[in-house]
Amino acid sequence: MLPTKQGSIRLFRLAGITVFLHWSWILFVPVRIGMRAYQYTSLTWNVVEYLALFLIVLMHEFGHSLACRQVGGQADQIILWPLGGVAYVAPPQRPGATLWSIAAGPLVNLILLPVLTGLIFLTDALGLQQAMPNAAKFLNVIWTINLVLLIFNLLPIYPLDGGQILRSLLWFVLGRAQSLFVASIIGFLGVIGLIPVVLWNMHGEASGSNSVQGYIWIAVLGFFVLLNCWRGFQEARALSRFEKLPRHAEYACPACKAAPPLAPMWLCGNCRNRCDIFQTLGQCPHCGAHFTSTRCLDCGVTSPIGEWIGRAPPMPQR
Ligand SMILES: [Zn+2]
Ligand SMILES: [Zn+2]
Ligand SMILES: [Zn+2]
Repeated sequence: MLPTKQGSIRLFRLAGITVFLHWSWILFVPVRIGMRAYQYTSLTWNVVEYLALFLIVLMHEFGHSLACRQVGGQADQIILWPLGGVAYVAPPQRPGATLWSIAAGPLVNLILLPVLTGLIFLTDALGLQQAMPNAAKFLNVIWTINLVLLIFNLLPIYPLDGGQILRSLLWFVLGRAQSLFVASIIGFLGVIGLIPVVLWNMHGEASGSNSVQGYIWIAVLGFFVLLNCWRGFQEARALSRFEKLPRHAEYACPACKAAPPLAPMWLCGNCRNRCDIFQTLGQCPHCGAHFTSTRCLDCGVTSPIGEWIGRAPPMPQR
């Protein structure tokens, strides 16, 4: 359950990354601005605040995308939607590369923290707090938004950044499938554990329209997390089945050195049937189509089939 390019407006392209705005963001604008309409003396400041929130989320997502590219992964799309932003990153399937691609997002907020703190101190020292109360209030709000985004993203609840960081760290110890199992279960328990906290807060607060909107937002977010934990759990099961498959010992991926599985797992782009491309040396047994290169199912890198022969094929005994 993630926003897609369909139903999104293309905003701009920067450093090879295209930024899209999902249509549902539009619904959220009046809610977000309306919620804070009385904070400033002019509505212009609400718009400025909203644009600043937009900018902070965008910088966070660019952190993910640029870090992913740095370690050789693919990242060319960012979609902004009401739950924040989604950077479509496909880092190489190694724990270190994944960890850096995920950690670079919250790192942007961490770097912004002293920058914004410095700005507040500076405007305070220059006496701008009194001269321009709206600007001063705006800076304080931005400081808080950045801190809340940082803390929220670091919650160890999959698929939030914190949960994915936890998963990458566990990956070093437990492996790719088991780490995803553990992280999605912790994420699941995390959401269940937060329900009494939210209910307790609801009980203590007078229910104005703002807090109702707040709880709707929390409910949507909780649902999103649970759904993604469930998908993570399913993916972990598929990964663990994949890891247990027998392998073609005579071949190795030029990128990650993993031997390809000895199973009909390759999808023929011509006839959509599955086959074992290494058993038939690049030919689909169903339609006869020839393939000169193939994608590694372990790391996702596509290489020419000829380069896969890492070890000499077993010679017949004399
Ligand atoms: Zn993030
Ligand atoms: Zn590979
Ligand atoms: Zn085929």
